[in-house]
Amino acid sequence: MMFGKTTKFLVAATVIAGLTTAALAKEKVYKWKLATTWGPTLSPFIDAPKNMAKMVEEMSNGRLLIRVDASNKHKAAFGILDMVKGGQYDMGHSASYYWKGKDINTLPFTTMPFGMTAPEQYAWFYYGGGLDLMQKVYKKHKVLSFPGGNTGNQMGGWFRKEIKSLDDLKGLKMRIPGFAGEIMNKLGMTVTNIPSGELYTSLERGTIDALEWVGPGMDIKMGFHKVAPYYYTGWHEPGTELQFLVNQRKFNKLPDDLKAILVTAIRVSAYDMYAQNYAMSANAWAKMGKDYPNIKVKTFPKEVMDAMKRTNKELLVEKTKGQPLLKEILDSQSAFQKKAREWTKMSDYLYLKDNLE
Ligand code: CA
Repeated sequence: MMFGKTTKFLVAATVIAGLTTAALAKEKVYKWKLATTWGPTLSPFIDAPKNMAKMVEEMSNGRLLIRVDASNKHKAAFGILDMVKGGQYDMGHSASYYWKGKDINTLPFTTMPFGMTAPEQYAWFYYGGGLDLMQKVYKKHKVLSFPGGNTGNQMGGWFRKEIKSLDDLKGLKMRIPGFAGEIMNKLGMTVTNIPSGELYTSLERGTIDALEWVGPGMDIKMGFHKVAPYYYTGWHEPGTELQFLVNQRKFNKLPDDLKAILVTAIRVSAYDMYAQNYAMSANAWAKMGKDYPNIKVKTFPKEVMDAMKRTNKELLVEKTKGQPLLKEILDSQSAFQKKAREWTKMSDYLYLKDNLE
């Protein structure tokens, strides 16, 4: 009897092993390419897609391989949406507000001046209807879009000269993207967007007089402080979220388990970039006063801040005229912000205001 049982077990094991080998032999390996806006060493932005690709490879046991191309490879830092839409790339990693000129509805998904902080905005994306609205906008481009990593509150930028009044802004040329750029333009500045690799030389050569980039973790390494020592606190990008893009047709062709692995890796790597950038900025800030005594940290004068707030409100009214979807997104954001901010006040704000050390 014992022998009989063992034989049956062995036969069964052989059949299962045979099936597994056959199944493995048929398993398709998907080889994808991802294009980023960022240069090959631009941490932590470039780390988010790289970490995502590594997680996907490990979790799928090598069945989905994603090659990450930095901007020096494809030479189209601001062409990510077009390349993913057109299928030259299966995926992208960039910032939604770079395409506001092509589709105004993509603007609010990165950050909005005086808008939500990173935790508030993540809550909106995943539990407040934000992700559905983002998919609705990108459906037109046959692309899926996901939160791709947050910088937290950004610094207001580097200026050669101190800004003492509203008049001091007039005539200055500044690199500042998104809706904040439009506000600065209304306040008399000439605004432009420049890829990360050209920022320092543009500032050094005087092509621009000021720029905003991210925060101390990323900014100090760029050397902006050497030519523009006035470093202003932020107002314009309180919770900048990058985006992962996926070509919809390519995504549909993936088996269900690979779809789940991809979406999970995207979400984990996005949160991870938020943590990584927070640590980078905390470390850089701790060193700043000691190692870079020429940096002068400033807050914009009340007159300037009031003008920015007023112009923000006026421009939002102007911008949403005849744009029902943009209005729907911005209304959803402001309603969520109003509610979430009450909780932020009761929790983080009240705690922090008495515990600043
Ligand atoms: Ca920025």
